[in-house]
Amino acid sequence: MSLGCPKNLVDSEVMMGLLARAGAEITNDASDADVIVVNTCSFIESAQQESVNTILEMARHKTVGRAQKLVVAGCLVERYRNDIQKDIPEVDAVVGTGELEAILSAAGIAAPSSAQQSGPFVILNSRAEGDARAAQGRFSRTEWEGAVRDLPNYLYDETTPRLLARPKHSAYIKIAEGCDHPCTFCIIPQLRGQFRSRRFESVLAEAEQLVAGGTRELTLIGQDTTCYGEDLGLKDGLALLLERLAEIEDVRWVRFLYAYPNKVTTRLLEAIAAHEKICSYMDVPLQHASASVLKLMRRGAGAEIFLKSIEKMRRIVPDITLRTTFIVGFPGETERDFEELCDFVRAVGFDWLGAFGYSDQQGAEAYALEGKVPPAEIEQRRKKLMQIQKQISRKKKRSLVGKEFDLLLEGPSEETDLLWEGRTRMHAPEIDGTVFINDAPDGIELRAGDFHRCRITKAHDYDFEASIL
Ligand code: SF4
Repeated sequence: MSLGCPKNLVDSEVMMGLLARAGAEITNDASDADVIVVNTCSFIESAQQESVNTILEMARHKTVGRAQKLVVAGCLVERYRNDIQKDIPEVDAVVGTGELEAILSAAGIAAPSSAQQSGPFVILNSRAEGDARAAQGRFSRTEWEGAVRDLPNYLYDETTPRLLARPKHSAYIKIAEGCDHPCTFCIIPQLRGQFRSRRFESVLAEAEQLVAGGTRELTLIGQDTTCYGEDLGLKDGLALLLERLAEIEDVRWVRFLYAYPNKVTTRLLEAIAAHEKICSYMDVPLQHASASVLKLMRRGAGAEIFLKSIEKMRRIVPDITLRTTFIVGFPGETERDFEELCDFVRAVGFDWLGAFGYSDQQGAEAYALEGKVPPAEIEQRRKKLMQIQKQISRKKKRSLVGKEFDLLLEGPSEETDLLWEGRTRMHAPEIDGTVFINDAPDGIELRAGDFHRCRITKAHDYDFEASIL
């Protein structure tokens, strides 16, 4: 079971690859498994709760099913290693985010001979910014009972076996791990360690392998993709990487997620604008628009600066699709701050927007901040923001009716067998809306992973209906 974000999914795929190479047969049916692995998320409280519930649910397979072992992996292990083992006796072993290869011994499988082992598991790059933050205690876990002191420094590479959990036509590539930013609401740096990039050639080699195996869409991920290469001494590392990936012949779309606002450079935007295969898509989590809240978040900037940088994105890449996320109800957020955020959202007109209610995280700096917003108020603000976005989205989606796009077919719809689903360049995998296919010319065989030209025939609040041409 893989919980949480795409970054965690890649870790799951690496663990599955390691297990499969060592001879294990992989199944996603827990009742059929001898060893169950739960790869957990620990980003916010609700994610931790979901992780614990899943572990308890899977533990039942040891008493009423055939499972012999239960292994817990991922971010929750980095946070509560000892507690998991102490409080859930059904758990046989834990595997942190920095020790993925330990999945073999945890599952009771002997590692393959050294000749077959993956090469370098540990890369120790760092940036001056990260080293300075480390000296300031940003990555300290000393207040966390039950967590080991050492930070993860693992990074997979192109020689690490990886078994894709999603359809092969679209794959994530993790280009970096960890994060050096000081955001006060976030414990990911303590969970995942200092920022470190994979080698340029390693990412290229993995991309080529994936494409040779049938992948047509590559989505680059990391906690902050826009810092890619800084620790390797590369300037404009992400732009260079995207350009090289776009040169791979059978790649159709390349995109990246999780840009840090002040790291979106002119060079990066020009690379997007210049290359057909690099999707004109920018996922830039802004988290807020009020300068005073952003200051409390230790992210800086504010509505005015963001508006200017979005204007620049739209000037250099006129057809750019913009996605962002916001946290509402951050400690100290006043009615006025929230109204400023709403006005900003109205002014920008994002294509895709996610809003999360703030939740306290022990170990995050914001935990100690005064001015906590009551949970009911947080939820009300979250709903209001999403209501504003719904109207914006509806209008934007309607303006595209009649337009033509390239479409990647994903497969039969999850909602009804009568329709197929697909995505355009405007849709990143798994997070954005859906394009439902309601018509296709006679004789066309619909196959997941194929690209077609389509025309949008109808728009809903977030989804489209389209005909294949
Ligand atoms: S950029 Fe901020 S929110 Fe994102 S992972 Fe780093 S510290 Fe957390």
